[in-house]
Amino acid sequence: MSNYLEAVKIINKSKNIYIASHISPDGDNIGSILGLYMGLKKIKNDVNIIKVDEVPDYLNFLENIDKIKDYDGREVDLFIALDCADIDRLGLGKEIALNSKYILNLDHHKSNTEYGDLNIIDPKASATCEMVYYLLKSLDIELDKEISEALYVGISTDTGSFMYDSTDYETHLIASHLLSYNIDLAKINVNLYQSKTMSQALLHIKALDTVRFYGGGKIATIKVTQSILGKANAKMEEAEGLVEFIRSIDIVEVAILLKEKAENEIKVSCRSKTYVDVSAAMKEFGGGGHIRAAGVTLNTSIDQAEDLLIKSLEKVI
Ligand code: 5GP
Ligand code: MN
Repeated sequence: MSNYLEAVKIINKSKNIYIASHISPDGDNIGSILGLYMGLKKIKNDVNIIKVDEVPDYLNFLENIDKIKDYDGREVDLFIALDCADIDRLGLGKEIALNSKYILNLDHHKSNTEYGDLNIIDPKASATCEMVYYLLKSLDIELDKEISEALYVGISTDTGSFMYDSTDYETHLIASHLLSYNIDLAKINVNLYQSKTMSQALLHIKALDTVRFYGGGKIATIKVTQSILGKANAKMEEAEGLVEFIRSIDIVEVAILLKEKAENEIKVSCRSKTYVDVSAAMKEFGGGGHIRAAGVTLNTSIDQAEDLLIKSLEKVI
């Protein structure tokens, strides 16, 4: 708790606060940003959110999503990075962070590089939203329905709906407390898990044609190329869910999604089921993440990226 108290001191004395999203923001990133923003707004006037990348459509239902805006260029007293393992993942926020007076880095990635002036890193937390819950508690800020919905979204998405190893007694205690604010679970679950668009469904159908198996079926890969995106008339963010789907095949231990963002820019999402540490595997290539969910960007062709990853992962399955 001591680190949280240090954060409380800094928050209390800061004249302005800027919370930044990261590149390819997910439910935990956006949920933690909005939860903290709404909480801090109860005690501070000058709280802002910096948009670093596009927010995926499935999170647009969250309250105050419109407060995620382009940076207004003012001098920053306190810069807060949430759910962001290294400073490069802040994208255009990196420069703003480095020019700010103070960086608070709050995150649950064990691969976090501790780039802040204050680093609160808890790899046992299932989501950064769990940590924001504790920070708001340390600040004596009363939760409400909207804050609870934002935090619940981060916990639900980062735990794979409370299924991953990271889910524990505390995760459920926090979720239970959030439910006591009468959050709209049906709204959350439909938006997060039951709102696939036709283009997304088509993308998934076409991408499934690219699935390949290695290591006797323990490793599965799936690819989303620019050509497939074009055929499905879909956006890259609509690849969400594909890697979890191929991991769900009974014999698969490691699932790899390769997204061709551009020629020689391959965003890799890697997932394991029970024993492979994919964070360590991705670290080898300069990426990182969690034991069961990690990623990296490789500057090679999509087929070369697949070869490199398979060679490395075949050693650990
Ligand atoms: P995803 O595959 O959903 O993009 O990311 C899974 C996890 O790995 C997330 O927690 C994310 O922060 C982390 N991750 C994804 N890509 C990278 C990367 O390029 N570098 C690092 N350090 N972590 C990443
Ligand atoms: Mn997270």
